[in-house]
Amino acid sequence: MPRVRIQGTEIEYRVLKTRLNRYIRLTVSGKDGVRVSAPWGVPERDLHAMVREKGAWILDRLEHFRRMESQQPRWTLADGQRILIMGEWRTLRVISWEWNAGKVSLENGEVVIRVPFRYLQDKDILATLFNRWIRRWADQELRRRVDLHAERMHVAPSRLTIRAQRSKWGSCNAEGSVNLNMRLMYTTPEVIDYIIIHELAHLRELNHSPRFWRVVDRYCPDRRERQAWLRDHTWLLEMP
Ligand SMILES: [Zn+2]
Repeated sequence: MPRVRIQGTEIEYRVLKTRLNRYIRLTVSGKDGVRVSAPWGVPERDLHAMVREKGAWILDRLEHFRRMESQQPRWTLADGQRILIMGEWRTLRVISWEWNAGKVSLENGEVVIRVPFRYLQDKDILATLFNRWIRRWADQELRRRVDLHAERMHVAPSRLTIRAQRSKWGSCNAEGSVNLNMRLMYTTPEVIDYIIIHELAHLRELNHSPRFWRVVDRYCPDRRERQAWLRDHTWLLEMP
């Protein structure tokens, strides 16, 4: 891979050339690093110059992803694991009991998974139990909050779906159907309310125009804080 030296740091980048590219595009991501896509025939030295020119920005993005990564807790369904649920860090307890069934409950702020002894180390069983439990909670919690905000905002979604998604926290379509990501449970109540208000505001304005943001601001005055929180916690979308 070609390299470029920026402020004393060696940076590798990958070049992708296809006939389909019409412009030179530079992207930096946590997963793929620095990538330059370009049309056929653009000389390497031009790409090199471009990467060098954008050096400060690239370093900034790489640093951002490094920070994200170091904050990301290693998620395993193991006894003692800490999970952020509805704005509170909760300890996961995995314990055995004599019943031949599994059960998950919230006890004194801890998430307790009870399973027969032989399943204590069975990650699949534990994941199934945990996911079923958080999904049921998400269903109740998110629906309750949607009802609350819909009433305040004088709107009514035609349909509400709650699904586990990796790419976005919520969406709203032209038919007035609102979709929320179940993983919102791994954020805070304030962030959940912001996402719900954002999607419900799309029932008035199906765009991100200044008019749309005025609706959001009316019902969620500190939305910028909540947006910033989400930007710093995109890894939560990778939760199980
Ligand atoms: Zn939107």
